[in-house]
Parts: sequence; C-alpha cells; structure tokens
Amino acid sequence: MTDSKTKVVIAGGGTSGWLSAYSLVSRLGSLLDITLVESDQIGTIGVGEATIPTIRAYHQLIGIDEQEFMSATQATFKLGIQFENWGQAEDSYFHSFGEIGQRSWMAEFHEFWMEAKAQGFGGSLEDYCLELKAAKANKFAKQTGKKNINYAYHFNATAYATFLRTKSEMAGVKREEGFIEQISKDETGNITSLTLGNGKEITGDFFIDCTGFRALLIGESLDVGYQDWSHYLAADSAIAVQTKAVEEPIPYTKAMAHSAGWQWRIPLQNRVGNGIVYSSKFLSDDDARTTLMGNLTGEPISEPRQLRFTTGRREKAWHKNCVAVGLSSGFLEPLESTSIHLVTTALLRLMKMFPFGGNTVLLAKQYNHEVKLEAETIRDFIILHYHLTERDDSPFWDHYRSMEIPESLAHRMAIFKENGYAWLDDIGLFRVDSWVQVMMGQGIMPEQHHKGSCVLPTEGLKEQMTVLRNRVANAVAQLPQHSDFIKKYCPAKSD
Ligand code: FAD
Repeated sequence: MTDSKTKVVIAGGGTSGWLSAYSLVSRLGSLLDITLVESDQIGTIGVGEATIPTIRAYHQLIGIDEQEFMSATQATFKLGIQFENWGQAEDSYFHSFGEIGQRSWMAEFHEFWMEAKAQGFGGSLEDYCLELKAAKANKFAKQTGKKNINYAYHFNATAYATFLRTKSEMAGVKREEGFIEQISKDETGNITSLTLGNGKEITGDFFIDCTGFRALLIGESLDVGYQDWSHYLAADSAIAVQTKAVEEPIPYTKAMAHSAGWQWRIPLQNRVGNGIVYSSKFLSDDDARTTLMGNLTGEPISEPRQLRFTTGRREKAWHKNCVAVGLSSGFLEPLESTSIHLVTTALLRLMKMFPFGGNTVLLAKQYNHEVKLEAETIRDFIILHYHLTERDDSPFWDHYRSMEIPESLAHRMAIFKENGYAWLDDIGLFRVDSWVQVMMGQGIMPEQHHKGSCVLPTEGLKEQMTVLRNRVANAVAQLPQHSDFIKKYCPAKSD
C-alpha cells in the first residue's frame, strides 16, 4: 500500500512547516507519505506568539488537546487586543473577540446603543461585552453559565513548533535535517526533488514551501512573483526581545503606537514577548531599538533580534506541484495577529482540495482566488488602524492619515460614517463587532443609525440596555483571575 501513497515533502520546520506536517498526518495520514526538511543552521523566525480565536476550532479538527498544548507552550489566554495611542496619543480602545450586546436581525447592537446615547443613557459600548470587561478585570474562564467565552492564545512560538514536531514524528512524519541546496524540476516545471548539503536527495509528488521569507521553492525556484503592498502597509522592520514577567499575565495583547511605529507586548506564563514594528523610511534601527528598550516592563532575557520583511502576498500561493504556506506565501504585518490564522486556512483549503491526481490547474486557480480575497480583507482591516489615526505628531502618521487606501476600505468607512452600517467581511473573518470596535475606537462616530433601533419605547430600551449591562457585570464578577485559571488548567511544563 505504501507505494500508492502520495509523497509530500514539506520544506521548512517553523510554525507553518510543523503545523502542515501535523495537519496532514492527522487528517490524511493513511493516504500520504510525509517528509519534512529543516535546517538547524537557519532556524525559524522565532516570533508569532499571538493568535485569534479561529485557532481553537482548527486545533480541534486536527486533534490537539488544549491543556496539553497550553502547558507545553507556556500559553496564556487572549481575549482581544488593547490599542494604545492609535486614534490620538493617549487614546486607548479595545478590539475584543466577544460579541457586544445583542443584535437583532435588522440592526446591529451598536445602533441600539447609539439610539440610547441619543436619548441620554446607555453608558459605554464596552460595558456590553463580556470578553472585553473580563480582559480589563484580568479574569478568565472558558464559559460562564451557558455562555461560551470567545478566546485565543498567546504561546511560545519555538515551543509550539517543537510540540507539533513531537506529535508529527510520533504519527509517522519523517524529518530530515539539512540545508536545501538544490531544487530539481522536470520538463513540465514541476518540482521533483530537493537536494541537501550532504548530497541526500528527497523526492516527492507534491511540495509545501514553508521556508519563510526565503520562499525557496515558490519564489526562487518556481519564480512566482510577489505583490508588494508596502504602499499600503509601510512597515518593513521589527525588533523582538523577550523580558522577564513582572506581573501576572494579562489575558490580552497590547499594541502601543509610537511616533513612528508600534510595539507589541504578549504575556506568556513565564515571560513576555515584546517587539517594535516600524518603517525604516521613518525610523532608524537605532531609534527603534532605543524606543523598544525604553518601553519594557521587565528585564530583557534575550538579545534584541532584528527582522526585515516586505508586506504583500505571493501572486500565486499554489503553482505547479507546490503550495506556499506561511511567510513564503506573504506577510501583512502582525498588528491583528493574523499570520498563523492564514496558515490554518491555507491548510484547511489544501486538505479540501488536495491534489491526489489528474489535472489540478483549475483547482489551483480556485485556491489562489480564495487566498487573494482573504489576504485583501485582512489587509483592509489592518490599514484601517493606521489610516484612521488623528495623530499629526510625525511624518509617519502624516503619511498614513493622508495615504490613498483601497477602494474596498474607503467604501466601508464611508458607509459606516454616513449610516452606521457595518457588515461581516466576505471571508467571514472580521465580524461586525470587530469593524465597529476599531472604527469607533479610532474616532468614526456614525452620523445616522438604523431606525429599527427606535421601535422600542424609551423605557423599554432603557430596561433592555440595563439588563444587558448588568448581565456582563455579574458574569465578570463570577469569573476567576486569569492566572488562577491557568495555574489549575494548564500550568507551564517547562521554560
Ligand atoms: P519560519 O519560522 O521562518 O520557518 C522557515 C523554516 O524554513 C525554518 O525551519 C528554516 O530552517 C527553513 N529553511 C529556510 N531555508 C532553508 C534551507 N535552505 N534549507 C532547509 N531549511 C530551510 N503571526 C501571528 O499569527 N501572530 C503574531 O503575533 C505574529 N507576530 C509576528 C511578528 C513579526 C515581527 C513577524 C515578522 C511575524 C509575525 N507573525 C505573527 C508571523 C509568524 O511569525 C509566522 O507566520 C509563523 O512563525 C510562520 O513562519 P514560517 O514557519 O512560515 O517561517
């Protein structure tokens, strides 16, 4: 039977390589013979520690036990992102993963809230979101009463790849350590084998390029171009550093804007991941490093690491007998922690469209079409944070405030501003509440809202709003502290 298996070769052993390996072996293992090649000499990018809630369903699909995974990766829970200094310096708002209030089929909750505000009551929109209030109170549980809490994770990227590697090898994935020196192709342009520095040749029927920014297979060998989006997303550099934890981990990421970039703070159980993202056109590496090192809460425990990238996407993620997964397929930037999500959607799509034989040209075309739509929506959502700034304290923010934005985003912002209408994006990733939190958080207050929100008499609306607010406050009061929950549920196994 082994001979009839499709031979899959995965080049690269970072998060995308090992997630590809484990996904394929756990779901299609009986049909595939999988080999992963990675080079200890090169190593992995070593960042990518914040996720979004879609990862939970993905883990379930491939059979990852949450407690085992969290203990192995020193993980914490993530309920959203706090954005500081984005609209204006000193501003703060939260993009939470939770549902805000209660929507009707006709009007979204923020429109009911706007009606309440117009009538002089209603408090803050934040008061209606359980995940948001829990995050700010540093509390967490997986559910309260019958309501499930919507969450994601922060985890140690290196430990995550190791965790997946162990599971993959136990399930039958073969690992080859070595530097890929040569990529051979047949007369049709399909890849036939990878040759390592020690002369060993790894042959395959289908190849997955997980070589990170190097994009050895899809870029260097198959010559698929890269669509540069730096005119929309100017960041091209980052510096990452880890610090000692000085407080119990909070259940959210912080994204703190500076005068020419922004800084992340990602709390794990035993340390904190930090980094600054910036554009080298607006900030020198030395100044970026000084800003980062001056804004740490704990003592550094690693050397600051410089990273370079070009925002954009691979023109085709699937070409010939090769699919690019992870950084080789493109990179937007880490602001909304969407890269690992894109690895999981790429793998889901690949498993659904897996090329077991026959002509796959149209399949690849459909795959590439879906990947393009997905990347464009995420791109728009990220641009929104930068473009909607009111900051005018540096050339960096002047650039973003006045830049040309994609038509799709301009359309969305204009409708929200004029009518208060927001909608789920085409790929179903950023929900209405996500768009509303960021658009309102950065200063768009709609001029109108749906009149369906006025159907209730004032007293009825007031009562409804009070019930919803109290429900959130009472639920948060019952929740345990985030760190207590972690200590019981998934204490870190090791550093
Ligand atoms: P890599 O980790 O770079 O792995 C590449 C692999 O290819 C390595 O194993 C390497 O050894 C191998 N390789 C390369 N060349 C060769 C060769 N010649 N021979 C043999 N092997 C080779 N994502 C998120 O979801 N959340 C975040 O918070 C987040 N933050 C980020 C912050 C920054 C600054 C950056 C740059 C990225 C961030 N990302 C984030 C993205 C995330 O890091 C990646 O999506 C994820 O780590 C996957 O990377 P990868 O596996 O594609 O590449």
